[in-house]
Amino acid sequence: MEIRLEQIKEDGLTLEFEKSVETFPVLAEMVANGECEFAAPLRTALRALRIGDLVQLDGDIETSVRLPCSRCLQPFETPLKSSFTLTYMQQAADVMEDTEPQEVELSAEDMGIVYFQGEKINLKDAIQEQVVMEFPLRPLCKLDCKGLCPKCGADMNEDPCDCEQRPSPGKFAALKNLKLEK
Ligand SMILES: [Zn+2]
Ligand SMILES: [Zn+2]
Repeated sequence: MEIRLEQIKEDGLTLEFEKSVETFPVLAEMVANGECEFAAPLRTALRALRIGDLVQLDGDIETSVRLPCSRCLQPFETPLKSSFTLTYMQQAADVMEDTEPQEVELSAEDMGIVYFQGEKINLKDAIQEQVVMEFPLRPLCKLDCKGLCPKCGADMNEDPCDCEQRPSPGKFAALKNLKLEK
């Protein structure tokens, strides 16, 4: 899963491929840790263009994941899509000796530049990084998921209970104590 510079002709290079999640170590580890499951392989469409010494990579990734709802804890399936543009710069072998490495790193980061060495760009890292960034921080099975009852743990979507739905006074008492301790 890489692009060799010589493959990128004047009018650019278009690539489309489908890879299983096991191909991507970072994603495979998320599955192994039980954080999510992938319900589909990763479909990737890429376009690479050479602009002077730079390579601009535009990509679209699509897959589908199963992960637990952050409110009701029920697993649900949701599509995951990423559209991104990355700019790659070939790193000469002597760059690190000639310039202050820290300075180079900072300015490159500011400009959103990814360095690569040699004659090829590794796509695996870029793809799995983009997919990880698309994961929702607080996944919801549906926008109005009612979550679990804080008292008895009943799933309020499926089987609402009869507990009184009020914030428990215990939480506020705990807050007051915190302030007093300061
Ligand atoms: Zn939910
Ligand atoms: Zn309840």
